[in-house]
Amino acid sequence: MPDDDRTLCPDCGAPLGGRDGCDAAFHELGARAIANPGFAYRRRAVVDAYCLQHPTYILSLKSFAAHLCGLCAAVERPADPRAERAIWSDLRIPPDAVKPAVPAVRGSRTLADVCEAATPRAFHAAADAWIADVWAAWSEHHDLARRWLDYSVAAPRRVGR
Ligand SMILES: [Zn+2]
Repeated sequence: MPDDDRTLCPDCGAPLGGRDGCDAAFHELGARAIANPGFAYRRRAVVDAYCLQHPTYILSLKSFAAHLCGLCAAVERPADPRAERAIWSDLRIPPDAVKPAVPAVRGSRTLADVCEAATPRAFHAAADAWIADVWAAWSEHHDLARRWLDYSVAAPRRVGR
């Protein structure tokens, strides 16, 4: 990423060259995760955190629910395989579900903090802090996330899937 452009991303505030630079850095991090497993740590939660800071990635109810419930599962139910399956293989959303307004402030840490990590060890610490920070920023919707996650875990699934 170009070091000379420190323009803030209007969505998350990362000084990575505006929204385009932030998006490019996000995809660069994805490539780094594939190339080096040390940077794939908590990969799904890292993607959820990024998307929950950028409204364009959570426009639809389905993608919003997947990322919010995904972060909820990662933070609150990391040892429950049912939660993971309920999100990633077959997310069910309550029929009366309505997407709430996206919070104006979506965390104080950003992608820039994890991109700065030069070693997997530093990346792990930065990712943990970022994930916790974004989850805390969505606190007014924690109950909603838990409810939707419970619904998807309990929803009957078709045989053979
Ligand atoms: Zn951003």
